[in-house]
Amino acid sequence: MSRFIEIVEVGPRDGLQNEKTVLSVDERLALIRRLEACGARRMEVVSFVNPNRVPQMAGAEEIMAALPADLNHSRIGLVLNMRGWERCVAAQCDEANVVVCASDGFATRNQGSTVSQQLDVLAAIVERQAVEGGPPVTMTLSVAFGCPFDGEVSEDQVVAIVREAAALRVPEIAIADTIGVADPWTVRRRVEAVRAAAPGARLRLHFHDTRNTGLANAFAGVEAGVDVLDASVGGLGGCPFAPNATGNIGTEDLVYMLERAGFETGYDLSALIETGRAISERLGKAPASSLARAGAFPV
Ligand code: ZN
Repeated sequence: MSRFIEIVEVGPRDGLQNEKTVLSVDERLALIRRLEACGARRMEVVSFVNPNRVPQMAGAEEIMAALPADLNHSRIGLVLNMRGWERCVAAQCDEANVVVCASDGFATRNQGSTVSQQLDVLAAIVERQAVEGGPPVTMTLSVAFGCPFDGEVSEDQVVAIVREAAALRVPEIAIADTIGVADPWTVRRRVEAVRAAAPGARLRLHFHDTRNTGLANAFAGVEAGVDVLDASVGGLGGCPFAPNATGNIGTEDLVYMLERAGFETGYDLSALIETGRAISERLGKAPASSLARAGAFPV
């Protein structure tokens, strides 16, 4: 029996957002279409942030307008506030991924609001979605394993926020290691704690490979029963708080590890490797993913 693990591709958003090179809307669209051809069925394609603050993510509306609705593909928009939600609805994203931070230090510096205010925004978005319609709302809890400003983030902090999201019946909750400081044993304990706090929600995990623990953390999450993981083709991205760090775990590395072990992911590994190589070359850097360097096995 083979278990299907869903990999949500986040390269066009989390990856490109943290790259110095700014790609045009057409180049980002070409990457999105190529990744869908590689087998990505859920993808974070845009972020509804202020383009003056994050020029890498400018043109979200143009990108969504150029992607015709398609039942086999879910295009996710990242939402940080009510303005972002309104743009996400108008742009007809298939899902809205609302970010809540696990620490006040990160919340105020990254989004200019406290954790408690962000939970109020999440509640208001969920309520508007229920009344006015709009895409399904998921939550990503960022810096859930450590914060660059406040240091350690406790399990109690994470669980308290997850309880509030569970009370709002958010159908999917992602626990994110935004700065790449988690270890696999903590991942296992945190997954168990979050599952107990939100038994009705689907769990998703989001890891950055900043300190080379990304794949080990993904392994721990899958062993703990999580079926949904984020990854970024080519390991695109970086970490604004760790100079020279790599980005998310590479989609091709995660696909390779899982399929080698007998899991199904629905991705075409060789097409993915080529895509990781091509986008890294366009960004003027060596691919961060191991598969883009070493290739698959067996050949
Ligand atoms: Zn991230």
